[in-house]
Amino acid sequence: MSCVHGNGGPTTYDLRPTTTLVIQTAFLGDVVLTTPLLAALAGRHGPVDVVTTPAAAPLLETHPAVASVIRYDKRGADRGLAGIVRLGRRLRGRRYARVYLPHRSWRSAALGLLSGAPERIGFADSPAAVTYTRRVLRPGAGHEVERLLTLAGGETPTPPVRIELTADDRAAADAWLREHGVGGGFVALAPGSIWGTKRWPGYVGLAAALDAPVVVVGGREDMLLAEAVAAAAPGRGYNATGALGLRGSAALIGRAAVLVTNDSAPLHLATAMGTPVVAIFGPTVPAFGFGPRGARDRIVEHADLPCRPCSAHGPQVCPLGHHRCMTELSVASVAAAVAAVSGVEAHRAIRTGH
Ligand code: SF4
Repeated sequence: MSCVHGNGGPTTYDLRPTTTLVIQTAFLGDVVLTTPLLAALAGRHGPVDVVTTPAAAPLLETHPAVASVIRYDKRGADRGLAGIVRLGRRLRGRRYARVYLPHRSWRSAALGLLSGAPERIGFADSPAAVTYTRRVLRPGAGHEVERLLTLAGGETPTPPVRIELTADDRAAADAWLREHGVGGGFVALAPGSIWGTKRWPGYVGLAAALDAPVVVVGGREDMLLAEAVAAAAPGRGYNATGALGLRGSAALIGRAAVLVTNDSAPLHLATAMGTPVVAIFGPTVPAFGFGPRGARDRIVEHADLPCRPCSAHGPQVCPLGHHRCMTELSVASVAAAVAAVSGVEAHRAIRTGH
């Protein structure tokens, strides 16, 4: 074993030449949940190189298990066959001994093949499994973190989901909070999701109901929604979407008393930061393996709705037209979960009004 796990402190790995590549070009949240696998692999082989999307790269480039991050803009500058071939050639020049493929796509498999690495390890249920030299049975249940770790043969204890912040990341978040006069005990809200049906429509009502400062987090694409949510809490609602980079946003979430989020990437950022979570699930279910992991975390969901879950990601529009999985989750139920996790209460009139 070549790594030293501190008790929540820094982890160091010995500095062998990089022999191992991980290709993970899935969504942001998936990349965050891959960090325990990266730590396990670094423990065995030394720090790894990772191919990931430009959006996710900042989450990995400071991680102690990562030697270097190779950006692959699969929907932009590197799209299509030409991009795959170009990157494949680059990877071949690095002469990796092995490639791990947690993302079960043909694109990742093609990059693995083109890298020329003699060992290619991925999941047996991948459509591209025929291209792997070692196929690992993907567990049918359990959290995604442990499922991904099976690629490394399992790891006990499970390394933490981790984002390594720099002093600048923390300073940027603290400066933003100072500038807006937000002290401790605020509630972070993440109302966005790229999947329409995963967005709980109650964030405006929740922001109005809570007796605490609320800070809305997310990307630039969430800006309009975030403004409406922040405006519902006059004098104590703030919109931080697009104000900080990804690690700065993680640092901000790290300062919150609790994060209220849909089943989307901020949930996993909070897991990495150790911030308690109230996670709202609609068309998807925690049993898919992407739920919160903390002892204090709460899940709010419509447990008895027979149409749940209706798809792996959550469709853009409810196929039944009613979206009851989300519209029937009351502000009161989410506010009660916030109070249980953080002690932040809601106004009595609103709390009893749903
Ligand atoms: S079909 Fe059911 S689970 Fe799917 S979006 Fe509609 S209400 Fe939600």
